[in-house]
Amino acid sequence: MKSVKNNKTIQKDGAVVVFSGGQDSTTCLFLAEKIYGKENVIPVSFFYGQRHAKELEAAEKICRRFGFQGISLPLDFLKTITVSSLTEEENPIGTEIPEGENYPNTFVPGRNLFFLTIAGVIAKNAGYHHVITGVSEVDFSGYPDCRENFIRSAEETITFAMDYDIKIHTPLMHKTKAQVWKTAEELGIIDIVYNETVTCYNGIPGEGCGGCPACALRRKGWDEYKAGKY
Ligand code: ZN
Repeated sequence: MKSVKNNKTIQKDGAVVVFSGGQDSTTCLFLAEKIYGKENVIPVSFFYGQRHAKELEAAEKICRRFGFQGISLPLDFLKTITVSSLTEEENPIGTEIPEGENYPNTFVPGRNLFFLTIAGVIAKNAGYHHVITGVSEVDFSGYPDCRENFIRSAEETITFAMDYDIKIHTPLMHKTKAQVWKTAEELGIIDIVYNETVTCYNGIPGEGCGGCPACALRRKGWDEYKAGKY
């Protein structure tokens, strides 16, 4: 028992990290470890038919190697109810926002709402009040479910839904990719992030394929970081 507040006994606290095995969520995982301690951090990974499912292998490998007790959950029904180039091999990954649309065809509608809701439920079950996600408004994509207003709204909804306080933390929300590399450096995990994580849409770990939008963004951030621009 760590503390007693408002007559409610808070037995323990920790965080659930939405963990894809990519650069951003891996940085979030180690940030969470620093704050809550490894034994109070639960990484959760989702399989939703994404073409870069190699991400999940990276996630599992990182959990095993560093002793995190992770959870992997299937959310593959997402593939059957949405249309996205991330889940359809035959749909080429677009780098541009198509005319008349608000985001590229890599957007998976509803994805982060499902992720955060499930993470919130896992947190409640563990007696934790914190959920951490690596979403960023600075990301190239402009996905609506990566924005601050969505996060605050989801936090409120999940809290109301369970009558249980859930705080959603987005430590990378306003960071550029170069600043995320700098954060990894400060956490002492830059080699892990550089070599072990998968950002590439074609599922190639580390430096990736070099040709997809995710690789281009990662490379640009790395070059800026190395040049001291963060
Ligand atoms: Zn790539």
